[in-house]
Amino acid sequence: MSEVRVRFAPSPTGPLHIGGVRTALYNYLFAKSKGGRIILRIEDTDQARFVEGAEEYIIDSLKWSGIEFDESVVHGGDYGPYKQSERKAMYLPYAEQLVKDGFAYYAFDTSEELSAMRERMKTAGVPSPQYNAFTRTTMQNSLALSEDEVSKRIDSGEPYVIRIKMPRNEEVKLNDIIRGWVSVNTNNMDDKVIFKSDGMPTYHLANVVDDYSMKISHVIRGEEWLPSAPLHVLLYRYLGWEDSTPEFAHLPLILKPDGHGKLSKRDGDRLGFPVFPIEWKNPQTGEISLGYRESGYISSAFINMLSLLGWNPGTEKEIFSMDELIQSFTLERVGKAGAKFDFDKTKWFNQQYLRAKTKEELAAELQLILKEHRVEANDSFVAAVCEQLKERATFIKDMWDEGKYYFIAPTSYDAKIIRKKWKYDTPKYMSELMSRIEGISDFTSQNIEEVFRLYLKENEIGMGSLLPPFRISLTGLAVGPSLFDIASLLGKEETIKRMKTALNSIQQWD
Ligand code: GLU
Repeated sequence: MSEVRVRFAPSPTGPLHIGGVRTALYNYLFAKSKGGRIILRIEDTDQARFVEGAEEYIIDSLKWSGIEFDESVVHGGDYGPYKQSERKAMYLPYAEQLVKDGFAYYAFDTSEELSAMRERMKTAGVPSPQYNAFTRTTMQNSLALSEDEVSKRIDSGEPYVIRIKMPRNEEVKLNDIIRGWVSVNTNNMDDKVIFKSDGMPTYHLANVVDDYSMKISHVIRGEEWLPSAPLHVLLYRYLGWEDSTPEFAHLPLILKPDGHGKLSKRDGDRLGFPVFPIEWKNPQTGEISLGYRESGYISSAFINMLSLLGWNPGTEKEIFSMDELIQSFTLERVGKAGAKFDFDKTKWFNQQYLRAKTKEELAAELQLILKEHRVEANDSFVAAVCEQLKERATFIKDMWDEGKYYFIAPTSYDAKIIRKKWKYDTPKYMSELMSRIEGISDFTSQNIEEVFRLYLKENEIGMGSLLPPFRISLTGLAVGPSLFDIASLLGKEETIKRMKTALNSIQQWD
């Protein structure tokens, strides 16, 4: 097989949805697994839909996701430019060649004339009228008008588009790697505009010309482009490039959590999760959309989660590094059916990746949060905190939210648990326990636990009566990691201090 060259070809019309990131990812995995190259091409021929900042957003998102391109607007390459607006001059000659060869034609119809045609057809009982073999004969185009008239109109500067001349009743077939044979009859296809009156090609022409000139071997893209694929196959044929037609793989949709329809930004807003890799600020409205990066996700966890939305490795294995994904990925194991997005599973992935980090790595990240809160603590203490909290956290920020007490003594106590657990005898038990604790010389978790248990035994009281008040005194909370571990890390002096404070400030018992 010739060299594998794939492309991810987003349009800068807004932020990149996670479905787009998955398309980029599958392209990347496929290319890398075949020793091939991946290209990032910016498809910005639709000037009306251009959004300020979207291109930079796309580049930043992919970079954060760890998807590296071999050729792009940033990296350059032998097949550039990699932005369609900069390739503008390239497309018209191909459109004109198609006209010359009888596969396309000039059309001068105004939008009023187009609407009138649609109205006429509707009245005649055609539910979705199209510009096609039937209607084109009645319209203002180079197939219906005389040659003189056409030249006159063009010479006088009348705006025109170029449309593909869809043949009658031909089967167009393509063998999609994921879907198998797809066959469409040209009677169901319309005479799409391939070149616009503003001097720009439409998506279809630009996409095919670029895929051909960039020597793309495989087109891997979302299912929503499947209906366009037969037109692309015809364009390859009509341009004389049939032998270079790439292989196609149309990826399944990412579905809403309930499986009904495509996952949209609105679902994220409604259910409270991001559908974009990084935060996006709408330049027109200033509205901010959540991103996985800003929500505290580890990019490799995010990518691992996405990799399994549509692809399945054929084993029970769920945790894959990028290298492992490259080794295991095949397009044959991408399913046809849409993949349901599962937000809990997304969090689960983050948790797994967080747990896999060393305490030093976690500490470095937690230090950043501590700094924001103007808390100073030495690295080894922070690392020990991370070690204790790691199993309970999904995000690094949880360690601060749920473990502030490691750094700052509690200033309030969980009222519900006090009502339940701070009984009449509690102050007495707590003060006695305190003096015992004072006597521990080697303040290890194990020694504290031993002293604690011995005290319970001697006084014939259960764990449930003294452990919660002890925990509340040190942390202010009802739950957390092993209390003996916490106490040992806080040190004897701080432990005693907190017990005293609690004894002085908690009054309530029944
Ligand atoms: N520009 C198209 C998009 O925005 C690319 C589709 C394709 O990959 O052919 O998704």
